Amino acid sequence: MGAAIRHLTAIGPGDQVFTVNVERDFRYDPYRDFLVCAHCGWSPSLLTTRRIDAMAWEHLASAHGADRGMADRENESVSRARWVVLPLCAVLIIALLVFAGS
Ligand SMILES: [Zn+2]
Repeated sequence: MGAAIRHLTAIGPGDQVFTVNVERDFRYDPYRDFLVCAHCGWSPSLLTTRRIDAMAWEHLASAHGADRGMADRENESVSRARWVVLPLCAVLIIALLVFAGS
């Protein structure tokens, strides 16, 4: 379905790491984000005003006993893509400025 853009993790019994993925579905406009538990297939409706990270950690704690070491990581490929796009935009803006000035 969507691409995982964030991983919400917490540490449970036996130092096992549990993960809830935030998946973004770009087929919608505007895009939609989904929460999907990597361990039990839990995927709540997001038609709510609650924060999705709070919902994810509540699920990890209540369903998997993972209530320590909460962490919110961006997917590596997403953060890497930003580091590629940012310099490209800077180069483009500089090129436009030079072009406009000449
Ligand atoms: Zn779960």
